Amino acid sequence: MQIRDNLARVQERIAAACRRAGRRPEDVRPVIVSKTVVPERIREAYEAGVRDFGENRVQEAASKRPALSDLTVTWHLIGHLQTNKAKLARELFHWIHSIDSTRLADKVHQAAVCTGERLPVLIEVNLGGEVSKSGVREAEVRPLAEHILRLESLDLRGLMAIPPFSEDPEQVRPYFRRLRELARELESMGLPPSCLQELSMGMSHDFEVAIEEGATIVRLGTAIFGERNK
Ligand SMILES: *Cc1c(COP(=O)(O)O)cnc(C)c1O
Repeated sequence: MQIRDNLARVQERIAAACRRAGRRPEDVRPVIVSKTVVPERIREAYEAGVRDFGENRVQEAASKRPALSDLTVTWHLIGHLQTNKAKLARELFHWIHSIDSTRLADKVHQAAVCTGERLPVLIEVNLGGEVSKSGVREAEVRPLAEHILRLESLDLRGLMAIPPFSEDPEQVRPYFRRLRELARELESMGLPPSCLQELSMGMSHDFEVAIEEGATIVRLGTAIFGERNK
């Protein structure tokens, strides 16, 4: 019941943030982050209506997936991907939010090419320039996007960011705004708007601000499943 209630509350908050921003709730897609969550509880969320789940580790996803193979859901890889796991990631995920190098893009492309289907991907941008975080610097986004556009098995959809953490979501707002501006700048430089439509930004503590700044995908774990065991 808890999960169902949490979902309802989150959906109300998404709707309210959309109203404030003059946006439509159907233009914001919540991806429910199930890292560290056991398959039984993931199934509970599925039964409450969730169809988009996010995991940040390929290995963890691989170990939980057999218990969930009967569910029809879209799985999103939201964590850093190592090139040696590209093939497994391709098998387990329908979206990859964390492309952050041409080498990784090439590997995922090679893994996807035999499927004959195009894999939706996002470029992860390291907006804060934090050395501890993955993602490309702003200046590298354009060349990487142009590279991905040449790989026919990848379907570039937009940008993703994990801004520096702050207790106060207002402190994070400029980063969310910057990601949206960056997408518009790339468009004005000639990149096709269709490859810049999605902005994956905002987590449990700051998703409303992210929506106000244009998020089309918010990634929510704690708000649905409660605090994770460390
Ligand atoms: C864990 C995680 C989330 C969800 O975080 P919550 O604060 O639990 O909502 C979102 N995005 C990424 C990349 C994560 O690793």
